[in-house]
Amino acid sequence: MSESETMGGRMRGQCLCSAVEFEVDVPERTYSICHCGLCRRWSGGPLMSVHCPEPRTEWLNDEGLTWYQGTPWAQRGFCSRCGSSLFWRMAQEPEGMLIVSVDALEDGGEFTLDRHIYSDARPDRYDFADDCPRVTEAELMKELGLG
Ligand SMILES: [Zn+2]
Ligand SMILES: [Zn+2]
Repeated sequence: MSESETMGGRMRGQCLCSAVEFEVDVPERTYSICHCGLCRRWSGGPLMSVHCPEPRTEWLNDEGLTWYQGTPWAQRGFCSRCGSSLFWRMAQEPEGMLIVSVDALEDGGEFTLDRHIYSDARPDRYDFADDCPRVTEAELMKELGLG
């Protein structure tokens, strides 16, 4: 995969009904799939999302934007009008990194799968056929300096 194929940039996104519209800085066009129970319950399946370390988020419309704090450390952003699952961010640093649902982005289809996280939380009823790395919860916590 060449660098130009995965290069990101300023991207636009929105929810299903357009009551949430935004622009973010996406460093590269790759996404990960989270299999944790919280993501699956929240979004109705494994969560496919893009990591934006310095998003410089601009809200073009935040009429429907609602943040749900499910754990002391994280908040999940969704549209209260149409129900789209859109964002994940750190509660302590809400203007910092932003994780964005890949299909909320305008050209979500052009992203390449990078890796699976919480792979050990995946239920047996589904799997993916790719060869990307499978990162367990313990491995991820270690990587984030929390384990
Ligand atoms: Zn909406
Ligand atoms: Zn998750």
